[in-house]
Amino acid sequence: MNSEKKITIAIDGYSSSGKSTMAKQLAKTIGYRYIDSGAMYRAVALASMRAGLVSPHKEPDVDGITALLPSVDIDFEVTCDGQNTLLNGENVEAEIRSLEVSSCVSPIATISAVRHALVKMQRDMGLSKGIVMDGRDIGTVVFPDAEMKVFCDASAEKRAARRFKELSDKGASVTYEEVLENVKTRDYTDETRDESPLRCAPDAVRLDNSEMTIDEQNQWLLNLYNEVLASL
Ligand code: C5P
Repeated sequence: MNSEKKITIAIDGYSSSGKSTMAKQLAKTIGYRYIDSGAMYRAVALASMRAGLVSPHKEPDVDGITALLPSVDIDFEVTCDGQNTLLNGENVEAEIRSLEVSSCVSPIATISAVRHALVKMQRDMGLSKGIVMDGRDIGTVVFPDAEMKVFCDASAEKRAARRFKELSDKGASVTYEEVLENVKTRDYTDETRDESPLRCAPDAVRLDNSEMTIDEQNQWLLNLYNEVLASL
């Protein structure tokens, strides 16, 4: 096994399919950099909301958002229990997880100029490999040559229940029905957009984690990583 070799790991899947949790844990275990590409789309959505260019009740202003992009700087700061997303230097980690941002993010992610800008940033982050990135198009578009690709799925109800618990634990006043509707709407928008729609890459390993605990998923992913490394 070539444990010195750094590879690129792409983890894609549906919203709230648990991909971030296991991607983050794998990166920690093997000493790789973790990038949550969804957080980058969420940061652009928040910047657009603040500029009045989109809202849960207003379609995105594509020209306005395209013009805004050069002034949107996204970065991550690593903390002892994960990482924070920085929008022009401001920690927006909590705000980008709100249901309001979740309602605006998928329409924002259909805009070509947004996708091109973020894909370029993501590729730059992966230049020296040793990276675990999760999202919707990582194995298909961002890193089509990634040595390891996973595609995660679970039923919409399971995913909504997980997300509802996360939001309720943080004190958000949302109902399970609102979260389920948001999950289904985002699935639909992500799968049917023209630009890099959500697809399982032909060479990705599929994982349905509906009935798995977090520990089981983490172990499954680590085993796969060891298998991939052993095969190189
Ligand atoms: O992963 P998360 O659910 O936080 O992503 C938020 C939204 O960002 C997704 O619903 C999707 O519309 C968009 N996204 C994307 N491509 C990615 C990551 C996220 O279109 N690589």
